[in-house]
Amino acid sequence: MDNKRIFLSLSTQSGFEQHYIQKAFDDNWITSGGPNVDDFEEVLGNYLKDDLYITALNSGTSAIHLALLLLEVGRGDEVICQSLTFSASANPILYQGAIPVFVDSEPETWNICPEHLEIAIADRIKKGKKPKAIIAVHLYGSPYKADEIHAIAERYQIPVIEDSAEALGSSYKGKKCGTFGTFSIFSFNGNKIITTSGGGVLISKSKKSKEKAIFYATQSKDEAVHYQHSEIGYNYRMSNICAGVGLGQMKVLDKNISSRREINGFYREIFKDIKEIELFQTVNNDFFSNYWLSTILVKENENVNRESLRLAFETVNVECRPIWKPMHLQPVFSDYPYYGSNVAENLFKEGLCLPSGSGLTKVEKERIKEVIHSFFNNYNS
Ligand SMILES: *Cc1c(COP(=O)(O)O)cnc(C)c1O
Repeated sequence: MDNKRIFLSLSTQSGFEQHYIQKAFDDNWITSGGPNVDDFEEVLGNYLKDDLYITALNSGTSAIHLALLLLEVGRGDEVICQSLTFSASANPILYQGAIPVFVDSEPETWNICPEHLEIAIADRIKKGKKPKAIIAVHLYGSPYKADEIHAIAERYQIPVIEDSAEALGSSYKGKKCGTFGTFSIFSFNGNKIITTSGGGVLISKSKKSKEKAIFYATQSKDEAVHYQHSEIGYNYRMSNICAGVGLGQMKVLDKNISSRREINGFYREIFKDIKEIELFQTVNNDFFSNYWLSTILVKENENVNRESLRLAFETVNVECRPIWKPMHLQPVFSDYPYYGSNVAENLFKEGLCLPSGSGLTKVEKERIKEVIHSFFNNYNS
């Protein structure tokens, strides 16, 4: 049997990418900004509907950083951040010299827990500092409890940065992820549901904040004939070539969402009779996940644990990854405050991400099914 590596999340192309890249060359616009960038922002805006202002950037991380800048988060300020996430959600807090305050997840969506969020806010206020922002994440495409989280944020008048990096195409109560936050972001890194080979967008609700975002993203140039700067700038704008890739990729977005959801169904079928495995599923129809990655919890017993299953996959050259290690357990963030119990920690201990690439073939699915069946038959026969 072909033993070519099966990766966690590879991109698939529509075939139109080259056309838009060629257009960048024809326009002789081989730099950042430009016609493809304008078009990409427009196409994405039409997809999300709503009255939104979209700024295309060179990564999702820079989008989060700009959101913090626009919210005037500075040295010594505190920012609440979901602990169970990729480090890119939290790193920009440190770029600003601000202090991350990590909050646990709840078990239904795996995302920021409303109860611990409220405890954290109240306690930080009591200790003398009201948090300047809340970073909430739709992990693996699963929407966070938007009603609860945004009600709390509103009650305390704290803006939310919605990290939708993994959730393009997901929605909550029929409203698309990426439209909830004071600022929202998407990532188009190579492993996400669509890619620009590397890129991101910042989404805001006003023309003024988009203009300010572009100002920061293009080195904060004041209006003058010479180069004049009264603020620190960044080189964060999306390249016109990358935007061309993105325009081609937008054509396969719907198809990618269906195939990732279909892959989730494939895993549901495989695991339905395996008692040690719990496949993550959205709790009810309010939550619509793009299932960017399908994830499972492995209930440990004398025969099976998360790591033994991961190694069984690795033996046949199939990539699986433990779910994100919570930020409050990361050496680099260990000195910062944390509110919660051990929900995120246990998800990390038991959780495994399975191959979920939109282009997963029938043959590859057979290989995956085979390794799971032989792994569990060894113990259950
Ligand atoms: C990928 C990702 C980011 C960062 O996006 P980049 O484009 O890679 O900088 C931020 N947050 C989460 C949750 C992500 O998965």
